Amino acid sequence: MITRMSTLFLRTLREDPADAEVPSHKLLVRAGYVRRVAPGIYSWLPLGLRVLRRVEEVVRQEMAAIGAQEIHFPALLPKEPYEATNRWTEYGPNLFRLKDRKNADYLLGPTHEELFTLTVKGEYSSYKDYPVMLYQIQTKYRDEERPRAGILRGREFVMKDSYSFDLDDEGLSESYQRHREAYVKLFDRVGLRYVIVAATSGAMGGSASEEFLAESETGEDTFVRSTGSDYAANVEAVITPAPPAESVEDKPAAEVHHTPGTPTIETLVDFLNANTDRKFTAADTLKNVLVKTRRPGEQEWELLGIGVPGDREVDVKRLEASLEPAEVALLEESDFAANPFLVKGYIGPKSLQDNGVRYLVDPRVVTGTAWVTGADKTDHHVVDLVCGRDFTPDGTIEAAEVREGDPSPDGHGTLVAARGIEIGHIFQLGRKYSDAFGLDALGQDGKPKRITMGSYGVGVSRLVGAIAEQNHDDMGLAWPREVAPADVHVVIAGKDETVRNRAEEMAAELDAAGVQVVLDDRTVSPGVKFADAELVGIPTILVVGKGLANGVVEVRDRVSGERAEVAADEAVSHLVGVVRG
Ligand code: ATP
Ligand code: MG
Repeated sequence: MITRMSTLFLRTLREDPADAEVPSHKLLVRAGYVRRVAPGIYSWLPLGLRVLRRVEEVVRQEMAAIGAQEIHFPALLPKEPYEATNRWTEYGPNLFRLKDRKNADYLLGPTHEELFTLTVKGEYSSYKDYPVMLYQIQTKYRDEERPRAGILRGREFVMKDSYSFDLDDEGLSESYQRHREAYVKLFDRVGLRYVIVAATSGAMGGSASEEFLAESETGEDTFVRSTGSDYAANVEAVITPAPPAESVEDKPAAEVHHTPGTPTIETLVDFLNANTDRKFTAADTLKNVLVKTRRPGEQEWELLGIGVPGDREVDVKRLEASLEPAEVALLEESDFAANPFLVKGYIGPKSLQDNGVRYLVDPRVVTGTAWVTGADKTDHHVVDLVCGRDFTPDGTIEAAEVREGDPSPDGHGTLVAARGIEIGHIFQLGRKYSDAFGLDALGQDGKPKRITMGSYGVGVSRLVGAIAEQNHDDMGLAWPREVAPADVHVVIAGKDETVRNRAEEMAAELDAAGVQVVLDDRTVSPGVKFADAELVGIPTILVVGKGLANGVVEVRDRVSGERAEVAADEAVSHLVGVVRG
C-alpha cells in the first residue's frame, strides 16, 4: 500500500528537542519517529514503529535460523521467582516494583532468566528433551538512574532475550557459538559498524561473555582497539603483554637510600634525579597499592598488595574484574593501625611478604627487572630491587590502567580508545539459575543431571537508535535499506497536473512491484518536501518535476547524495533494480 504524506500521521519538526543531546535522539524526534512520554519512556509513531518492526523481523529470522523458538512471557511478574535468586534484592532501585489489590508484590521484568528456567523445568524432564533454545522479544523495564539519549537508554525498552539449555559444557559452548554467529549476521544485516569485545578477561575460562558494541562517539561504553589489527576489547579484558624475563646475574645490588619527603612517585623521581647520577622516570618505580578483598559469603577481609609500575594508576574497574567474584575495598585508617608494618607512602614488597600479605604484580614486573620501591621505613626507598632475586611475587594481576599507545595484546599495532553503544551481550551463565530452581534432566544412567544455561540479549529498540546514530548527516536520517521505513520516497515537485498524474502512476507501478512507497502528495512547496525527505531518511528519493517535460525524472541516493537523471519511462524498472540490490 502506498503511504501518502497527505494523510500520514506525521508532523516533522524544524527545531531540535530541548532535552536531546545526541544526533539519533534529535533526529528521531524531529523526523516524527518517536515522542517522549516521560523520562526514558517513548511512544513509537508510524514511521518509527515500521523501523522497529523491521529490526524485530531481522532478529526473528536469525533466531529461527539457529533453531531458537519464540515464546512470550508477561512483563508483569510475581516477586517469588526473583526472591528465589535473590534478584528481588540485588536489583535494588533499578527494579520497578508494584503491589496488586491484595497487597502482593509484583515487578515489571528487567530480564527473564527466572521465568525461562522455571518454564523449562515445568515442561521438560529427560535428557532426551535437550538441548533447547528459547527466546522472546519483550518490553523490559528498568528504572535506570540516568535514562539518556532517547531510546538508547530507556526505562521501558524492547529486548530480544534468548536462553540456551544444555546437558553439558560442550553443549553450552556450541549454543553460545551459534548465538554469536547469529548476532554477527543480524548486526551485519541491519548495516551497523560494530566490534565484538571480550567482556571480561575470561578468568573463568574462555570467552564466557562477549559484548557487541556499535561504534559511536556518543556511546557510553569505552573500549580499546588496535591500530594494526582488528583486536578490540573492553578495558577490563585487556591482557598486558609481558616482556621477556631477564637474567638476574648482572644486576647491581639493591641499595636503600634515604629519600626524605618523598611519599609520592613524583617527589621520589625528582629527588633521585637531583641526588644520584642516574636518570629515573616514574616507570622505573614500583608502586605498591594496598587493598583488602573478601570472598563471597565470607566475613573476614584479607589484605592484598598490588605492585604496578609507578607511571600507571590502578584502574579500579580492572582490579575488580580481575578479583571477581571477590569484593575489593580500599584500606581505612583502622587497617593501617592494625598493621603497623604498612608504612604509608613507603610500602615495599619485603614487609608484605614477611607479614604474609599476598602480593600480586603487574605483568610487566618480570624476573630480572629492577625497581625503585618503598623500603618499609618512612623517608626510605630501595633502588635496584630485582624481581626474582630480591622479591618473589605471588603472581600477576591485571590492575594497572590501560593507556593509548600501549602495545596491542595480539602483537600488532598499539591501542587506541574508542566508544560504543552496547547492542548485544552473549553470556555463558552456567548453572546459576538451574541451581536456584533445581533444573535437572534425568540422564541416560537414571541419575539427575544439572542443566547449564546461556543468556543472550539484543537491545532491539536501542538498535533503532544505534542505527540512526551511525546513519545520518546534517539534514537528517539515512536508513540502511534493510530496516528503512520504506524503499522509495516519491516527491511530487510541481503543481502541474501531468507531473502529479505521472508521479501517481509511478508510485502505483512501484507498489505493484512490491516496492514500499511513501508518496509526498501534499500541497506544500517542493522545498518543504525535499527537506522532509532528507529528514525522514528513506534510502531512495524519486523526484518527479519539471524534467518530465523532457522525459526525465531524478533519482537521489539519500546515503551517498548521488543524483541521477533517469528516463521517466525506465524509472520504475530502474528503481525496482535499486531496491532489490
Ligand atoms: P547497559 O550496560 O547498557 O546498561 P546491560 O549490560 O545492563 O546494558 P543487558 O542486561 O546485557 O544490558 O541487556 C541486553 C541488551 O539490552 C543490552 O546489550 C542492550 O543492548 C539492551 N539494553 C539494556 N539496557 C537498556 C536500556 N535501558 N535501554 C535500551 N536498551 C537496553
Ligand atoms: Mg550487558
